[in-house]
Amino acid sequence: MFRIGIGHDTHRLVEGRLLVLGGVRIDSERGADAHSDGDALCHALADAILGALCEDDLGAQFPDNDPQWKDANSIQLLARVILRARERGFHVVNADTTIMLERPKLREHIQAMREALAGALSVNSACISVKAKTGEGLDAVGRGEAVTVQAIVLLARTAI
Ligand SMILES: [Zn+2]
Repeated sequence: MFRIGIGHDTHRLVEGRLLVLGGVRIDSERGADAHSDGDALCHALADAILGALCEDDLGAQFPDNDPQWKDANSIQLLARVILRARERGFHVVNADTTIMLERPKLREHIQAMREALAGALSVNSACISVKAKTGEGLDAVGRGEAVTVQAIVLLARTAI
């Protein structure tokens, strides 16, 4: 039995914050303004998994007014979400993600992100796709004011 889920996350980019995507620290003048580490890639993927399980979203599971999650490492949040999936009897078949970020270019970081996400999800990195696009100078992404990530994931019931 298969379940499919979709996730989306946006963070405002501000000076003086780190930029972390898929657990990888990216050299950037601006980083995500967030209660946690602002890792939009982990957040979108975690939301996709929770969506596939029909279990609300990351904000409900890890409220941003809870001091426990202040500056939380989102790779660890993702690992907790996949634990929830496993308890429900599901594993990740594959996931596909698109990061929308004007700068810096992410090409050199893509493989490291895929491996970090695959590690958190306990799957082979060949099952995790990370793509990066710019906003072509348009809208909040294009003006360098935001990072947005879309994610889709397929879960399957684990054979017992
Ligand atoms: Zn987020």
